[in-house]
Parts: sequence; structure tokens; C-alpha cells
Amino acid sequence: MNKRRRLFHSVVKGGRESGKLTIQVRHACLPINQYSSVLGDFQLTNRIVTRYLTNNMYWSVGFETTSTVAARDERSEGRLVARRRLASMSLRVTFLGTSGAVPTTDRAPSAIFINREGDGLLFDCGEGTQRQMMRFNTGFDISAIFITHLHGDHILGIPGLVQSLSFNGHEKPMTIYTPQGTGDQIKTLLTVGEYEPAFPIEIVELSAGDVARETDEYDVRAFQTHHQTNAIGYALVEVDRPGRFDRQKAEEELDIPPGPAYGRLHAGESVELDDGRVIEPDEVVGEPRPGRKIVYTGDTRPVDATVEIATDADLLVHDATFAADNAGRARKTAHSTGGEAGEIASRADVDRLALTHISSRYGADASPIRREAEDEFGGEVFIATDGQTLEIPFSDERE
Ligand SMILES: [Zn+2]
Ligand SMILES: [Zn+2]
Repeated sequence: MNKRRRLFHSVVKGGRESGKLTIQVRHACLPINQYSSVLGDFQLTNRIVTRYLTNNMYWSVGFETTSTVAARDERSEGRLVARRRLASMSLRVTFLGTSGAVPTTDRAPSAIFINREGDGLLFDCGEGTQRQMMRFNTGFDISAIFITHLHGDHILGIPGLVQSLSFNGHEKPMTIYTPQGTGDQIKTLLTVGEYEPAFPIEIVELSAGDVARETDEYDVRAFQTHHQTNAIGYALVEVDRPGRFDRQKAEEELDIPPGPAYGRLHAGESVELDDGRVIEPDEVVGEPRPGRKIVYTGDTRPVDATVEIATDADLLVHDATFAADNAGRARKTAHSTGGEAGEIASRADVDRLALTHISSRYGADASPIRREAEDEFGGEVFIATDGQTLEIPFSDERE
């Protein structure tokens, strides 16, 4: 399932002119100002924005700079720094709303904020999501909202959020992804109260299997769920990272002099040594290491599609509206019980299972939902609470 794509930015052109270095960076994956740590003091000379339209949504950006970092060795070193930064990219999940259809004093309606190294992604946007974002300090730098289905407890926060962003001078374009056939209703929500958003918002309808958002480092995919209405879930899937650099082999076995060659090999370039030997990167770089995966089902019955997409996920966030005492009601309203969520987590062999969309009838004690999930699933299980924040480590860096 993991497509192997180039993970990091690539410096595709470099030239030296009167002490200055011109560098063209494609597939920029950090905010441009953060490249100063790589390029030193640089001036942006040209911004390259390429937009491909595959399902309306594949994008890639780049830029051209002049930099005062002129020496090739320093530049290679800089790229190594960038690679180390990227290797430890943060991925943080904040539960903003964990209630079922009706909120309680402790739980707001559905919303999850994911911050991937500064990329703000919101999954569902129940009523009051903007206040939850303030309470739990997620910031308001959202580039995309992913809607699972059009029930009010998942969308009624959109107009308030968008209007506040407009009042506060938000300018960055936003994309709202929503199930096929529901775009017009989202549009109506955006313009409710004789209001026009003050920043560009693109609405993109998705079917199961569509890739909603694709960058060089991750994509967000829609998958089929089963609810009372047209509903999809979302999986955020990172691309593989390059393998580990075998320094010992490079130094002792292959006798490659330590220096910039190491960085270039690790970056996937072959290197010609002074003695004429050409070293290929796969001689010293191990197998690619898996990226991370987070799956959010939204409201759903337990379905095979979740097992398929969530296999080996680092985190599965699953509907667990009821406990077994309301199993019939779960079936009737197309939700899941804790036990059913646990069974899906077990079949998918995920690392952690977060139970959410907790019915208000378990306001006093939701522990039966968790216990039933634990009976089915041996990994870590918890009932998500509003404001709970998780850092998702890489599987090979877990303690
Ligand atoms: Zn719901
Ligand atoms: Zn629903």
C-alpha cells in the first residue's frame, strides 16, 4: 500500500555566481522561512507553485533562492540537517469533541485536530469546534477540513469557525473535503446568515478510494464506512522514510572517507570517490522505514474497509457510541459498540485504539465501552476525552 515516493525536498539546480549560490528547491516540504537553517541567509527570488489536478487535488510547491552559503560541503551538510529535521517530524492529534449526537457538559460534538509539523488538518467540525480549538491551543492555521458525513454533530461548527477566521483576517486558502453529493449543502452552510467567507474555500467531493490530499510526505485517503447516510472515513498515511545509514560499513568495509559523501548517499545519490570507485546508496542505506498512519472512521458500523485501510495503523479512532447493552440500538442507528470497535482494531492489528462518539447515556460512566473493547483487542485502548492530545511516534522510534 505504501507508495514509495521521494520523501524529502530535492535541490534540483545549483549554480555559483559571484559568490552567491542559486538553488532551486522543488517539493518544498517546510514553510519557506524554515529553510534558513539549511540555506543560511537566503533571498527568495522566485516562487514555484505547481498544481496538478488528479481528483482535483495533488499539489506540490517549490521555490528558487539565492543563498550566501556557497560551499558545496556546507550545502550538503545543510541538507543533512534538513533530513534530520524531517526524520523527526511531529504528528500530534488533539481530540476536540468526543460526544455522540448530543453534547454533554464534558464532551463537545465530533472534531479532531491533527497537526503534522505545522500542517493543520481538522476532521469533522461539530458545533463549538472553534471554542474547543481556543481551549486546547491548537491554533487556527487550518488548511483543510475533512467531513465524514452531513449529520449536524459533525458539521454545525463550520459556519462559526469560518466566520471567526474571516473576522480575524485569515487569508490562507482552505479546502473542505466532503462525501460525494454533499458539496452544495456545505456551500449553503458557508453562506448562512447572508455571509460570504473572506478567504478562498474550495469544496471537494470525495468517494471511497479517492486520495483527498497528497503531498510529498503524506496523503489523506477516503474509505467507505457504513452509516445512516453517505459516509466516509479518512486515513492519513505517511510515505516511507529512507533507511538507516550504515556508518560502520561505510567507514570500515567500504573505506569511504567521512564527509559530505555520507549525506549525499543517504539522500539517495550515488557518489564517485577520489579513487574512482562509484558507491551506490543502497550499499550503505538500509530498507525504507515505514511512515505513520492514523485512521478516523467517523460514525460507522464495523466494516471490513476499516480493517483493510487501518492495518498496522499507529492510531485507529473508531466510533464506539454504545456498549453491548445497546447493541441493538448501535445496529439500528448504524454506530458501533466498544466491543465491535475492539474487534476491528484487533483484526487490523493497530497499535492504539481511541474510542470516540460516546453516547450521552454513558456520561456518568463510559468504562463498560472500554472494557468491552479491551476484551477484543490486546493493544492500548482508551476512551478519548475532549482536549486529550497524543504525539504519534514512528514505529521504529517507540520506547
Ligand atoms: Zn455523529
Ligand atoms: Zn452520524
